[in-house]
This record gives sequence, C-alpha cells and structure tokens, in this order.
Amino acid sequence: MNRSDRHGETPRKVAIVGGGLAGMAAAHALATVAPDLQVTLFESRRANGGRAGSFVDPSTGDEVDYCQHVAMGCCTNLLGMLAECGLADAWTRYDSLTFHHPDFVPSPFSASRWLPAPLHLLPTLGRLRYLTSRQKHEIRRGTWLLMRTASRRLAGMTAAEWLRDAGQSDATIRDYWDVVLVSALGEASQAVAMTAARKVFVDGFLASRGASDVLIPRLPLGELFGKRLPDSLRAQGVAIRNRTAVRSVGFASEASGHGGLVIEIGDGTLGFDQVVVAVPWHQLGKVVDERLAAIAGLCPREWSAFPASPISGVHLWFDRPIAAAPHAVLVGTLAQWMFSRPTEAVTDSSRAGHYYQVVISASRSVRQIPNDLVIRQVVEELGVAFPEARAARLLAARVVTDPQAVFSVSPAVETARPETATRLASLHLAGDFVRTGWPATMEGAVISGRQAAASVLRALGRPPCPISPGLPWGMLARWLIRREAVDSRAI
Ligand SMILES: Cc1cc2nc3c(=O)[nH]c(=O)nc-3n(C[C@H](O)[C@H](O)[C@H](O)COP(=O)(O)OP(=O)(O)OC[C@H]3O[C@@H](n4cnc5c(N)ncnc54)[C@H](O)[C@@H]3O)c2cc1C
Repeated sequence: MNRSDRHGETPRKVAIVGGGLAGMAAAHALATVAPDLQVTLFESRRANGGRAGSFVDPSTGDEVDYCQHVAMGCCTNLLGMLAECGLADAWTRYDSLTFHHPDFVPSPFSASRWLPAPLHLLPTLGRLRYLTSRQKHEIRRGTWLLMRTASRRLAGMTAAEWLRDAGQSDATIRDYWDVVLVSALGEASQAVAMTAARKVFVDGFLASRGASDVLIPRLPLGELFGKRLPDSLRAQGVAIRNRTAVRSVGFASEASGHGGLVIEIGDGTLGFDQVVVAVPWHQLGKVVDERLAAIAGLCPREWSAFPASPISGVHLWFDRPIAAAPHAVLVGTLAQWMFSRPTEAVTDSSRAGHYYQVVISASRSVRQIPNDLVIRQVVEELGVAFPEARAARLLAARVVTDPQAVFSVSPAVETARPETATRLASLHLAGDFVRTGWPATMEGAVISGRQAAASVLRALGRPPCPISPGLPWGMLARWLIRREAVDSRAI
C-alpha cells in the first residue's frame, strides 16, 4: 500500500475513535476511496464490533453473541461493505418467516411470487391466523394511509398517536404494528416517532421486493466483526489499536506544533489532521473535551440524555434439538424471536448442548423479574410453540440484558440527532445515533460511518465516497408511496 501523499507531501492522518460498525465503516470507506490517507482506528476493548459482539459463556465455555443480530434485505450499506470485504457469504438469507401464537396454529409469512411491491406482502398478511378479519382490514387501511402520508406530515408525532388517528384499534396496534416496531426499533408505538415507524414499514416492507428478507450471520459476531472484518481493514492498510481507550479529543497546544486535533491515550498524545468520533451517544461527553465541544457546536450532555431501550438475549442449551426451524417469530408471549445456532457456527464448544437464543426487545419488564423466572417462562413458551421442546432437558441458561442496547427513537430524539459534520472541519461524528434517517441498527451505524468518511473527504477537498440509497423502489411503489427529502440521508 503506497502511504505517500499523491503530491509527495506528508500523508494526511485520520483518527477514528471507536471500533464498532460505525468506526469500521468509516475506516473501510476511507481506505477504499483514499488509500493514501493514514487511518488509525482506536478501540478501547480487546476486539472490535462494539455492541455487535460475542462472549464466552463461563458455564458452558461456548462462544455466543451477546444478542442475536438480524439484518434485512434493505440493509444495502451493511451488506455492501461486507461484500466489499469478502464477507458476503457470512449471512444466510431467508425470504420467509413463521409467526407462532400460543392460541393458534403457526402462520407462514412470505411474499407473493408474482405481485409487485408494495402489494407483494398483502396475501401473506391476510393469512396470519392470529389476526381477526377486522384487524386485517384495519391493517390494510392503515398501510394505505401510511403510504399516502408524507414523512414531513408525521414530524413530532408518536406512532401510537398516528395509528389511532388512522383507525387502528389497541388490539391491532399490539398484535401487528408493535410486533414489527419492537423488533425493528426496540420500542413500542407509544414511544417511537412516527417518522421512524414509517421508515421501517416503507423501506423494510413495502417499497421493494426482498426488503423484508431476514439475514442471519453464519458466524458468531465476535468472529465476523471482531476478527474477519478487522483483518480485511488491516489488509487495506488501516492501523487498528485495540485495548486503547481514547481519554480525550481536543485542540493541539501551540507547543505541540500540530495544527489539527490531538487525542490523548494512555501513553501520551497523538496529533491528527482529521478525527472521527464513533463512540455511543452516552459516551461522547467523556471523549470530546468541553472546549472542543463548544467550538464544534456539539451538545454531548443533551445527546447523553437520549433515553435508552434495553434488549435481552435468553441463552438456552438443551440436551436435544427443540425446533427444526432456524428462527421463529413469537407473538403474544414474553419471548419475541427464537433463533437456533446456524450449523456453520457449530464448534467444539457446542458440545455444551443444543443452543437456542430467545430475544426480547424493549425488555424493561424483564429487568424487574428474577432471571430464573424469565428462563422458566420462556422455556414454557417454547414448549407451547415447539412440541419437541417439552421433552427436552435444559442443561444451562443465561439472561444477558444490555440496558443501553439502542437509543429510543422518540419524536424529540429524532429532532435532536446530530449531523455527521460539525462546525469544525477536522471533527466528524459517526455512530448509530447520528442523523442517518435510520434507527439504531447495524445499517444505521454503517451509513453513519460512510457519512463520516464523506465528511472527512470533503474537508480534505477530495471527492466523497458513495453511500447506497437503499434498494430501488418498484415502479408501482414509486407511484403509490409518497417520497420526499425527509427520507434521504443527511450528510
Ligand atoms: C442487544 C442488542 C441487540 C441488537 N440487535 C440488532 C439487530 O438485530 N439488528 C441490528 O441491525 N442492530 C441491532 N442492534 C443495534 C446494533 O448493534 C447497533 O446499532 C450498532 O452495532 C451500533 O454500532 P456503533 O458503531 O454505532 O456503536 P457501538 O457498537 O457501541 O461501537 C462503539 C465502539 O466505541 C468503543 N469506544 C467507546 N469509548 C471509547 C473510547 N474512549 N476509546 C476507544 N473506543 C471507545 C466501544 O468499545 C465500541 O466498540 C442491537 C444492539 C444490541 C445491544
């Protein structure tokens, strides 16, 4: 890799603080578009990946994800980055789901083969057995109104407010809209902004065929984002410093002789021409010094106060397989999703038993219940959904809750999310909380990283890196769904 500047000058140095998906996406985009830059990524933990990581369960010795992560067909920036890094085959794509309700037989959910978007999911919606005919009618009407309402007319409203105005009953909100919103946004309709809810339904289901496909990693996240993706970045010339917490980002002193910004780490300070801060919203104030924040127009205190929503993963090891399906949606129960371990991820440590994970988003209530009761309830619910589970013996179990899993995308938070570019040309923000048009997701984090790379390149007078606008909308979808500038990504 040629590290000298295009004009024979000293190479420009870029620091990225935070090795989650946002920081890695920024590093990847910069190393791809401007390989002459010297990019250094600082990550406080031993491995990259941030919230999308794995741990070794102490009782079984098994490496499992803190929480199962799922991408969708509409996550074009995440999937594009992984493909560019040779990791396209690290995911399995499923074009159908199964909904389980304790009082009804399971309902398969998959798009019609011949209907164009946005009509392609209508027939399968009509076959969800746990919904009444009246609820299905309400959902069709609500979906039509949603498509015909421009985002800007939804500003300041919660999803629950809009859904009620759109004639949705409490039962329909609970059984349909909240099932999707809690999974996608980590919050139910009373808490989330309707603009964010519209984004989920329009981009994730209605606008394009394939958008709602579910993609599940074949490898533990610790392997995918903690080893393989960083290896690919290193091969591109990115220097990665793990176990290196950045104590602060500030202005260089005159004595330092460096005109840009300095970052302070354990063994001293280092000067950089450009800095991308890609730490979570609640840690920004610890990293950016107050003077710098004031001059750059950052409000770390306000952003740290963004409310957070917890997500719990219930990890279960049984003495035998309990379900043939790789995943299932569970409705009307504490358990919301069930995932089995992908066969590719079976390792020697899988001798601990047959591993399953149940995910519970917006899990505030779970945190009030002792873990053994949560485990007992979830195992009972699995026994109702999957008869094989009734005979199985539970060998080990663990509940892992991240209390700050995602920020709550309320109407107030949607308005207050910061831009990537700051008032200072040498300082840029990345992270899923940055204004991307996306909720707190892997896709949102990757878009924010690409936005930050584009902002760095602009500051250096270079052409920007590309950001995928998402899947192309079908012709009928373009005609039926109102589209506008609010949906586009702010850079
Ligand atoms: C339980 C759970 C389930 C989820 N499920 C899904 C899902 O199914 N699908 C989906 O798309 N998204 C999901 N998400 C959301 C997704 O994980 C995040 O949106 C995304 O990973 C955020 O990436 P990020 O880079 O913005 O932040 P982070 O992943 O938080 O990365 C920030 C990094 O900065 C590092 N850091 C912090 N301070 C410093 C410092 N001072 N110096 C150096 N480094 C520092 C941290 O160690 C961390 O590695 C889930 C999240 C959780 C917690």
